[in-house]
Amino acid sequence: MSTELESELHKAVDSRRNFAIISHPDAGKTTLTEKLLLYGGAIHEAGAVKARRAQRKATSDWMAMEQQRGISITSTVLQFEYQDCQINLLDTPGHQDFSEDTYRTLAAADNAVMLIDVAKGLEPQTRKLFEVCKLRGIPIFTFVNKLDRPGREPLELLDEIEQELGLVTYAVNWPIGMGDRFKGVYDRKEQQIHLFERSAHGSREAVDTVVDLGDARIEELLEQDLYYQLKNDIELLEGVGPELDLELVHQGKMTPVFFGSAMTNFGVELFLKYFLDYALKPGPHSTTVGEVTPIYPEFSGFVFKLQANMDPKHRDRVAFIRVCTGKFEKDMTVSHARTGKTIRLSRPQKLFAQERESIDVAYAGDVIGLNNPGVFAIGDTIYTGQKLEYEGIPYFSPELFAVLRNPNPSKFKQFQKGVSELREEGAVQIMYSVDEAKRDPILAAVGQLQFEVVQFRLQNEYGVETLLELLPYSVARWVEGGWEALNKIGRVFNTTTVKDSMGRPVLLFRNEWNCNQLQEDHPELKLSSIAPVV
Ligand code: GDP
Repeated sequence: MSTELESELHKAVDSRRNFAIISHPDAGKTTLTEKLLLYGGAIHEAGAVKARRAQRKATSDWMAMEQQRGISITSTVLQFEYQDCQINLLDTPGHQDFSEDTYRTLAAADNAVMLIDVAKGLEPQTRKLFEVCKLRGIPIFTFVNKLDRPGREPLELLDEIEQELGLVTYAVNWPIGMGDRFKGVYDRKEQQIHLFERSAHGSREAVDTVVDLGDARIEELLEQDLYYQLKNDIELLEGVGPELDLELVHQGKMTPVFFGSAMTNFGVELFLKYFLDYALKPGPHSTTVGEVTPIYPEFSGFVFKLQANMDPKHRDRVAFIRVCTGKFEKDMTVSHARTGKTIRLSRPQKLFAQERESIDVAYAGDVIGLNNPGVFAIGDTIYTGQKLEYEGIPYFSPELFAVLRNPNPSKFKQFQKGVSELREEGAVQIMYSVDEAKRDPILAAVGQLQFEVVQFRLQNEYGVETLLELLPYSVARWVEGGWEALNKIGRVFNTTTVKDSMGRPVLLFRNEWNCNQLQEDHPELKLSSIAPVV
């Protein structure tokens, strides 16, 4: 490799951090994202992201669907700079638009920020997303939000994370007061107190007075009870808490914890600073030719998300690629591992919020959007040089199931084609009954929106009106060892067996309880909530 390219790649990778926020709706993800962008200088006034979203006009049915529901289907990655770091924040769709894409995005993330509401603690969506992060073993940083409101005791929350998620916690900063009396945070490493002043709605960076713990001014600045409480808490943390161990953090076993309030900007900048210090840079990935590192001189990456109809004028599809090695350049020609085709990447896009911007270069840790005239599927690898393939992205556990019917026999072909293409694109999982007479596909989704998108697109793009019949299941499990393992145990109760699109058995249950029951009756049966990648 030319030394010039080598040093360019080193420099790019050293300055890159890529992460996704995992949280339950309402924990403050939008607010925190805006504030991070505010500190990153990408926008000058927080609130601009939302405002711009509202300003957008409905330009297509697709967009209309988004607007009707007040959700964003299309944002994917936000790139901003802070202190010489290039930060890529991968957007994980939440709320009603929670879908398998949310999980897949985590396959492209090097770090996760787990955002928790101080009053609510761990919530269901956060736990689910945590499981996916745990499976990948990526570092998890915790931001406890809304300290300006009354909430639970910080120590109690740390305990909950330890007990329920099995993570060791290390508080990097510690809150001073809570609710109306939330005054600031204590930075344990620097042994400094940050006292904040509120600005109007937190639209500007918070005014931050920094004093050392031993500074005599503290007595004037901080009410006595808060000061004593802080001193006690620090003693306790230093006395019984573990030391910060970055190796454990990078293995996803220890989570650095931060406290703050995204709305008032308290603690946001401190979080960003330490996050950049402690987060993993883009690292090696497993491939068919062994591990490759980001400074491998050939370009390669994988598709983690496909998006249809982002630009109504072109009715195009965009494939989002996570760059893993080398340097991406506009107009370069790459190989497509699955089909062996050669493709010229002529219209690459970097996505800033909703707006598209053309890009010239990208490095490991970056995400690029490529026009996808039906070439790409989820998990596909593109590369230059020697052939390699990244591990695919698994199917994630669906929780909603429905039979999809085509009432019009003359549309049979379009229906089949549409269902098969939407499945390949990853819009929804498709399963089938084991009863050969029942040939209607069963849609299996993580979020309700996926059903709506499938029906909407079948009608719009394939001209097929469909009927949906919801099924009463909420849990799906793949069987390790396939049919052979399943047949060995004979008849199973309180579950329905179906096959996935690869013909593998999947057990559907009405609820977790039924699933646990089967596991208790047949401990020899190994069930998995995530489909093995083949
Ligand atoms: P998301 O659903 O996770 O994206 O959450 P949002 O960012 O939309 O926030 C949900 C609600 O919580 C909004 O009303 C926010 O104004 C509010 N919120 C977010 N962060 C804070 C915070 O630090 N303090 C308080 N009091 N409210 C907050």
